Amino acid sequence: MTEPTGNCPEREGLLQQWTDCSARVARLLSGQLAAMKGTASRSAGLDDQIRLARAEEVEACRSYYAHLNAHECV
Ligand SMILES: [Zn+2]
Repeated sequence: MTEPTGNCPEREGLLQQWTDCSARVARLLSGQLAAMKGTASRSAGLDDQIRLARAEEVEACRSYYAHLNAHECV
């Protein structure tokens, strides 16, 4: 096996999670922007979804760095 140095599957997974969360926030925000411009109907609970998605993103970010600190697998 010639794994590149620092290749940690767990870290990869956490990074992927974080990426997914960021993408979801971006998607929700663009929906909100479209609603503000009047090009899309304002969906109920969008603000709540954005708030939740942001909280998840922060949590994913924290998990990622917590893993880096605990594992030192950069
Ligand atoms: Zn690791």
